[in-house]
Amino acid sequence: MVTRRGDDPRPLPSETALRVIMRRLREIMADDGDGQDKLDGIVRQIAGVMVAEVCSIYLKRQDGSLELFASEGLNPSAVHSTRLKRGEGLVGKCSELGVTVNEPEASNHPAFSYRPETGEEIYHSLLAVPISRSSQVLGVLVVQNRTPKEYSDEDVEVLQATAMVVAENLVSGAVAGTGAAIEVSRSQPMVIEGEPLSDGIALGHVVLHEPRIVVTKLLSDNPAAEIFRLDVALEQLQAQIDEMFQQDEISVAGEHRDVLEAYRMFAHDKGWQRRLREAVEGGLTADAAVERVQNSMRTRMLRQNDAYWRERQRDLDDLSDRLLRVLAGRSARVGHGANLPSDAILIARTMGPAELLDYDRSKLRGLVVEDGSAQSHVAVVAKALGIAAIGQATGVVERVNSGDAAIVDAVTGEVHLRPSAEVISAYSDKVRFRARRQKRYQALHDRPAVTKDGVRVSLLMNAGLLVDMPHLAESGADGVGLYRTELQFMLSDAFPRLDKQTQLYRSVLQEAGERPVVFRTLDIGGDKVLPYLRQPKEENPAMGWRAIRMALDRPELFRLQVRAMLKAGAGRQLRIMIPMVTAGYEMVAIRALIDREKAFLTQHGHTLPSEILVGAMFEVPSLLFDLDGFLPRVDFVSVGSNDLVQFLFAADRTNARVASRFDVLSPPPLRALKTLVKAAKKHRVPVTVCGEIAGRPLEAMTLIGLGLRSLSMAPASIGPIKAMILSLNAENVTACVEDLLKDGAKDVRMRLQQFAENEGVEIDT
Ligand code: PEP
Ligand code: MG
Repeated sequence: MVTRRGDDPRPLPSETALRVIMRRLREIMADDGDGQDKLDGIVRQIAGVMVAEVCSIYLKRQDGSLELFASEGLNPSAVHSTRLKRGEGLVGKCSELGVTVNEPEASNHPAFSYRPETGEEIYHSLLAVPISRSSQVLGVLVVQNRTPKEYSDEDVEVLQATAMVVAENLVSGAVAGTGAAIEVSRSQPMVIEGEPLSDGIALGHVVLHEPRIVVTKLLSDNPAAEIFRLDVALEQLQAQIDEMFQQDEISVAGEHRDVLEAYRMFAHDKGWQRRLREAVEGGLTADAAVERVQNSMRTRMLRQNDAYWRERQRDLDDLSDRLLRVLAGRSARVGHGANLPSDAILIARTMGPAELLDYDRSKLRGLVVEDGSAQSHVAVVAKALGIAAIGQATGVVERVNSGDAAIVDAVTGEVHLRPSAEVISAYSDKVRFRARRQKRYQALHDRPAVTKDGVRVSLLMNAGLLVDMPHLAESGADGVGLYRTELQFMLSDAFPRLDKQTQLYRSVLQEAGERPVVFRTLDIGGDKVLPYLRQPKEENPAMGWRAIRMALDRPELFRLQVRAMLKAGAGRQLRIMIPMVTAGYEMVAIRALIDREKAFLTQHGHTLPSEILVGAMFEVPSLLFDLDGFLPRVDFVSVGSNDLVQFLFAADRTNARVASRFDVLSPPPLRALKTLVKAAKKHRVPVTVCGEIAGRPLEAMTLIGLGLRSLSMAPASIGPIKAMILSLNAENVTACVEDLLKDGAKDVRMRLQQFAENEGVEIDT
């Protein structure tokens, strides 16, 4: 509860307290004093209005530590001398996680870090809020009291609103001098280490991915006009959402309807609207009000630690972002492209594959994300686009400005920000060297991939967009082993109609000429999302209602796609592959659907393909235990090792913490593949591997040792894999792998590396 100071303890309504603070902040900012004077003034005023014995401002330094920049209540000698290491103490936690910390007994908290020089031992309760702007934490604003108490929601709101104003003034330079700590961290050369997601080296300039709309004007001079803006924007937002509700795709009843209904109710929620209006009446602009209400509601929701509230929070974040876009006069959907530099290095906290596809690929050089793993779909898409990409680049977003020069070294996993001239020149050399090596691979272009002892291996290419098709000739691949059709769907604004799909598949086949193409039917779900196809939110989408499961439950979309493929393949061989098959009987149902489409087209006088092969992705481990039931029902199999390995090890491919924890070059996955290869031979079913492992030389060498003779990979991998095969003796690698599996060795990868070294096998990493 916020109360009056001094001898008048009567409670104040929070908006009044907020308004008082806002007015005083405005006065402080208008004063002549320097940056330090202003910060001192701010902490004094907050302490006064919030009746806090202590109010302090910590600001972030270049190395991520926090420096006490101003304090009312702590020992003055601690100011500018107390530093907290990155993540240290409750204040460090507030800064690292960007969350509000509200502790009645701070010193009892396990994260508490005691600093004797501050004299803070007599204070019990602590409330800390991040000072942040466009998701960048600049510092922390803290109040402390002697009495142990949990600060009220109103207190939290007042402090958060103040932090917003402080952040704005720090960044705009209104608190001149104090911003140095932040500015320095974003002006010097720096290297951030991450994990390579997609091979390559890129030099270019930073583009920050969808920086959230930055609210620049916080305080309004005319609340009535702001209320009007807010009301108009709310009306527009609601109309957009109602319109979304009318779409054919989502108009049928089902779980997705319930989810959407809840979202729509939120958009019409009177409580939300009231809070927004109150915040505007309290002196904020409509935009600032959206941000503040979002922050304070998020703090409350985070306290309710269950799935329901997490979903509500996501709804709230989505709605707030949309409302900010409407207020800024932009389309509620994110759009990109127009102002992209021609050598863009895209930097983001997180990115989905569809979002990456929003960008003009001809201008994209590199991608850096703070999360992401090599198996995630955004990595797959980056590879397909030939973009050097790095994941796990912790803190990168905070350390760059749009337009900074940057180098993405996706060979070592390093991101160089604002590199020196020497670094740029060294990297330019590296890029030239790689180009020369590429030339060497070019020289192998027309040579078939045959081992030294005469074993022919078919090297196919993975593709997903029509623009990938020229790579077929460039790389010298034998065909397309995996055409991920969902990528095209992700690019569209609406579900592509029959004629558009037919045209696309026809063009792909035309481009491929005599070479075979395997079309995989829609694999939507997991981290592949279609913006226009509302799906129910699921706790574990990778294991949820995706791919063949959707096809069998909602056959309309599947049948339309198959019809388009059958029409496109008229008169020639057509290969259709079904993703995420879990049981043999699913293929029976799928074939029945395909047969229906064949019958329909025949009835209407269309020419069918001369041959139709229906295969399955081998991605779900259950199939391993029913090979004799499954294999007779398919014409071919392609191992999706990305998914197979994630399900085999129960290790989420998109979660970098666990994705590379277990090695694919270890007995369990290798034995699984061996079992499959053996059974497939018995049933005379051809097997390909089309997951990421097929494009890595050491892994591909091992696959050949397991008996695989067909591999499908990103076009850039064809050269290195061919060079490996040309220097390999298949009989020897088979014996080596057999040995390794026999004795169940732990150091399988190392022993395979040794084998390659001893035998002179070319492993280009
Ligand atoms: C796989 O799972 O290995 C695969 C090739 O499919 P995707 O990566 O598209 O899931
Ligand atoms: Mg898969």
